[in-house]
Amino acid sequence: MIKSVDLLLQHNLIRDELNEAINRVIDNSSFIRGVEVDHFENEFSNLLGVNECISCGNGTDSLYIIMKSLNVGPMDEVIVPAMSWISTSETVTQAGAKVVFCDIDQTGTISIAELLKKITPRTVGIIPVHLYGQPCDMDAIMEIANQRNLWVVEDCAQSHLAKYKGKYVGTFGRASSFSFYPGKNLGAIGDAGAILTNDYVLADKMKKFARHGGLVKGNHEIEGINSRMDGLQAAVLNVKLNYILDWTRKRQYLANLYMSFLKDVKGLVLPLIINDREHVWHLFVIQHPERDEMRKYLKENDIETAINYPIALPFLPAYDRLGHVSSDFPIAFNFQDNVLSLPMFPELTVDQVEYISLKIREFCHLNY
Ligand SMILES: *Cc1c(COP(=O)(O)O)cnc(C)c1O
Repeated sequence: MIKSVDLLLQHNLIRDELNEAINRVIDNSSFIRGVEVDHFENEFSNLLGVNECISCGNGTDSLYIIMKSLNVGPMDEVIVPAMSWISTSETVTQAGAKVVFCDIDQTGTISIAELLKKITPRTVGIIPVHLYGQPCDMDAIMEIANQRNLWVVEDCAQSHLAKYKGKYVGTFGRASSFSFYPGKNLGAIGDAGAILTNDYVLADKMKKFARHGGLVKGNHEIEGINSRMDGLQAAVLNVKLNYILDWTRKRQYLANLYMSFLKDVKGLVLPLIINDREHVWHLFVIQHPERDEMRKYLKENDIETAINYPIALPFLPAYDRLGHVSSDFPIAFNFQDNVLSLPMFPELTVDQVEYISLKIREFCHLNY
């Protein structure tokens, strides 16, 4: 079986280094914060060229901490794309603001034309999601936001080291949110997350909020939450930081192979590749009208696939209260019924990509 993501292959390659890192944490008892966490925060912010990195428990907490620290309120509207993981929208609600969904375009990221229509006098911010590892149109988003004095918070959970016009995503907005969930491009061996920002005042507020409302032990200026990256996760991430550039290039190489093996297949829609946007292929997502049948055919041929995501955010029961219908977000609706994520991870082999592509071609020819 070719898995859609195979973490064991990657961990076997660096197992000795991981064991050493884990032992170091046990030797130092640096379980909460400590040298490994400090090191990770420094290295990760240096890598992306941002002043502040605030590590936290996971990529959902990072969004929540940002929202709370931006002081969103009940009259405020925050625009989020209709296709994402629910963290992007649930944290807006939890911070006390109103979620306003916006359709995507064929890249899977927020549609600029639709975004313009969603802005009202109550809009305070936009959360673009670099979905699947594909950068959003950041020039257009920043221009729209700057003209109207809106903040931009980038959800980079799927887009570590992706670039827009040569600049890393996560460096455009007021702050950016990263997840290190094990299956992400940079993954821990449990939950972990981080926030990047160049805004020192906001950074201080976020650190405080994530650490029970105070940076000095015993002195709580406000009520906060407890969200922190543990030493073990930081130690593992520090090992993996030495490989992330290489792994990203491997994903890009494999994606190019898929593109060449799958070009010109009737009925099949391939991911868009856009000039000046460096996709990092967290997921390789194709579209086909017979998606479910194709998925079954691939499974019969020992190929595991995934659907990201089977229900677009506005159509989830969690958002019944908004009363949305499919025609409100036609592209996201089309995605939910047609998208299929093919196996994608740096250790996937050329032969495997060729085999998977061959099976897809077979399926498409049988069906057309
Ligand atoms: C994974 C993910 C998150 C949440 O990250 P967790 O670490 O699982 O909390 C948020 N947004 C998007 C787009 C994601 O893919």
